[in-house]
Amino acid sequence: MELFRLQRPLDLPSAPCDRPGEDAWSSLGAVRDALLEAWSSFGSLEDIVGEVARALRATPLAPSRVSMVVLPVFGSLDGTQWIWSAYDPHNVKTEIKPYGFLDSAEHRESVMHKVLTTGQAVRYRLATGATGFSFLDSLIDSGATDYLVMPLPVRHAAPSVFSLVTDRPGGWAEDDLASLRQLTPVLSLLIEVAETERLLQLAGTDPLTGLANRRSFEWALRQSWALCQRSSAPLSLLYFDVDHFKTYNDTYGHPAGDDCLVKVSRAAAASVGQRATDLIARVGGEEFAALLPTCSRRGAFQAAEHLRASVEQLAIPHQHSTVSACVTVSVGAVTVEPEAVVEPRDLIAIADSAMYEAKAAGRNQVAFGDLKG
Ligand code: GH3
Ligand code: MG
Ligand code: MG
Repeated sequence: MELFRLQRPLDLPSAPCDRPGEDAWSSLGAVRDALLEAWSSFGSLEDIVGEVARALRATPLAPSRVSMVVLPVFGSLDGTQWIWSAYDPHNVKTEIKPYGFLDSAEHRESVMHKVLTTGQAVRYRLATGATGFSFLDSLIDSGATDYLVMPLPVRHAAPSVFSLVTDRPGGWAEDDLASLRQLTPVLSLLIEVAETERLLQLAGTDPLTGLANRRSFEWALRQSWALCQRSSAPLSLLYFDVDHFKTYNDTYGHPAGDDCLVKVSRAAAASVGQRATDLIARVGGEEFAALLPTCSRRGAFQAAEHLRASVEQLAIPHQHSTVSACVTVSVGAVTVEPEAVVEPRDLIAIADSAMYEAKAAGRNQVAFGDLKG
């Protein structure tokens, strides 16, 4: 699950200390400082877990396994609890637990449940036989001697959890536990940053098609308009809408309608909007927009026609359309030259009314709108 990208590795002290105690305290301080310094360059929560695992390996406390559990505010339809674990810092395992997991016996009888509900850190010395928790018993079987689980308070997610396992004979000393606790505030902050970033991304994305949503589109339009004016470049905008889509839903059902919108959005994204500054958005139910900065009127016409044809070529059957035997779109286009005195909002209105002209002229075609005056 890629949230954002890691740009550089952590700069950590290379020489591990030999003895626990004071050395552990100071080397964990160094781990914490290095994590804090690198906060803006972490690419994902997997990256964070991998880096924490790698960094801790270089300390006297060298855990054999680290893991982090996050309960995101908005999960997905598929899952609600994210778990990252690493025995090997270069191989972080991601698990997404299904909805209902939090109510399952497996979760209610887990250490994780205990920590999440009490908000207290727990520590299990593992050399003392059966623990009553199947996960801990499996750790004992694999030679683990100590297990520490710490809650991480986070504002934009439910309380998260960080856990560590060691195989060291005799487990950790009390001082070691105090040292490890130094890490909790920085880990909380790192989760907070990653979650905030993910939520920002969600706020600008249409969940059905994965395209930008209307909010992102309006923002991008304003930005592109300013950029094109500054660089004396034209800006083109295409508005397109699926023809007779109400009939499509009535004929094939709403889920098939959703599928159709996804296919149309993919075809649109593949046919136009290839430049880094282009943006394709779902701006309404079955209405889409393509924002094409530095694209001339001629280029916009070609793009619009290419887009129209690529949806037609999907050949999605639409038996009750009066236009064609398959799904089609009508496209409205507008190009604005940098010297034009016009508000971004007016551009939307012009592209939209051009699209309705294309509808009125028979659908499955492109119409160009003109700036008045
Ligand atoms: P036109 O050719 O003039 O565009 O006709 P139309 O039937 O496409 O237009 P109309 O505005 O009458 O109907 C749009 C339909 O799009 C109605 C609505 O139920 C459907 N729709 C909007 N959003 C979604 C969606 O997310 N999923 C599905 N399946 N249908 C949607
Ligand atoms: Mg329509
Ligand atoms: Mg419509």
